[in-house]
Order: sequence, then C-alpha cells, then structure tokens
Amino acid sequence: MRIDIITVLPELMESPLGHSIIKRACNKGLVEIHVHNLRDYTDDNRRTVDDYPFGGEAGMVMKIEPIWRCINKLKEERHYDEIIYTSPDGEQFNQQCANSLSLLENIIILCGHYKGVDYRVREHLITKEISIGDYVLSGGELAAAVITDSIVRIIPGAIGDESSALTDTFQDNLLAPPVYTRPAEFNGWKVPDVLLSGNFKEISLWQERTAIERTERLRPDLLKKR
Ligand code: SAH
Repeated sequence: MRIDIITVLPELMESPLGHSIIKRACNKGLVEIHVHNLRDYTDDNRRTVDDYPFGGEAGMVMKIEPIWRCINKLKEERHYDEIIYTSPDGEQFNQQCANSLSLLENIIILCGHYKGVDYRVREHLITKEISIGDYVLSGGELAAAVITDSIVRIIPGAIGDESSALTDTFQDNLLAPPVYTRPAEFNGWKVPDVLLSGNFKEISLWQERTAIERTERLRPDLLKKR
C-alpha cells in the first residue's frame, strides 16, 4: 500500500509516522508513506499556499493551484483509489472505515489548514472527506496521522501477532476484554483466576463474556450494529 500525505507542515508528520508499528511496517515494505510539502508546488518566491477569502470573512483559505498541481503530479504517476480530505464536517472515521481503507492500493490524504481549502478542491479533486471527531483541530496533520496509524496497523504483517488486531475494540463491534500481565497479585489486587488456569476454552469463553458485558455497559449502541 502507498499513502501520500499533502501538508503545509511536513515536520509535524515525522514523529507520529516514525515509530513503532508504522515504522516497522515501512521497513518491512508493507507500506510506503510519502509526505509532500505543499509549498513545493507553489510558483511564487514567497511560496504562498493561502489567500484571503472572497466575501471578506476573517481567516485565510488554502489556494487551489498548489493543491491541484500536487495531486495532478501524483495522479500522473499512478492511479489513486481515494483522494481524502481531512475535515470536521466529513464522514466520521471509525474502525470499519479504517478496515476498508487498509485494503486499498494507493491513497492521498490532504491536510487542511487555516479556514480550510478553497471549496473547489473539495468539489472537483477530492473523492472522500473524513472527520476524526466532532471537534475542530488547527490542521489536518494529526487527523492524517490518526487515519494512517489505524490503517497501517491492520495491514497483514504489520503487527507481530496478526490475531491481536482482530481482538481489538470495535472489530466485531465489541469492546476488547480486559487484559492483565504479571504479577498475578499486586497490593492484594488479583488477576481473574480463569486467566491463570491454562484452560484455553474457559479463557476464551471468559473473554467473550466480559467483552459483551463491557460493551453492554459502556457502548450499548455497538451491539445494535452486530
Ligand atoms: N473552518 C473549518 C475548520 C478549519 S480547521 C470549519 O469550520 O469546518 C483547519 C483544518 O484542520 C481543516 O481544514 C481540516 O483539514 C483539519 N481538521 C480540523 N478538525 C478536524 C477534524 N475533526 N477531523 C479531521 N480534520 C480536521
């Protein structure tokens, strides 16, 4: 899979994409992530990416030309399955969305800034708009990092033990069961006996039961989607 991220702040993407599972997935060749500085696609000395909005509102708007140039250059090189714009008014991101994006070959993620992009970008160049939640961020970079992380970790081979990702919260519309590690007792607080029993059938039944119990208690809305 290949993910191209377009941003005015490429430095902001370095750390979130440079560690742990994402770094390993890149090193293993499971995913290629390319970060493009939108200012490299400007044609003036000041490398302008924004301008005043028509209509005289406060704030700045990202110009269409550099975005158009950057997306077109990428599209000349390969076919893209989705060209995504991160936006608070987009489709709300969730595990199902991450699962389906992880099956694609090539995607672009465009990060907005300021008041957002010239609306013609969204009308003519973008194929999907994603929000990571009902709140407003200063820029799309953190949203792009969230989307990228959630996609890459479920690409087969990215996590050492592949079955681990399948038991995560939201897969199957269930919250994950509780997990514990050594010591078996700390401050008098004990790990449930069944997990120490070595009886894998019992353990699996316990995990299923507690997953359902927790989901009923904390996120009953998920059970309706099963
Ligand atoms: N004026 C815009 C918000 C601009 S915030 C509005 O009211 O809709 C600046 C940029 O941050 C946006 O263009 C978008 O790319 C990104 N962003 C902000 N909140 C986001 C969210 N919840 N999910 C995804 N991207 C977001």
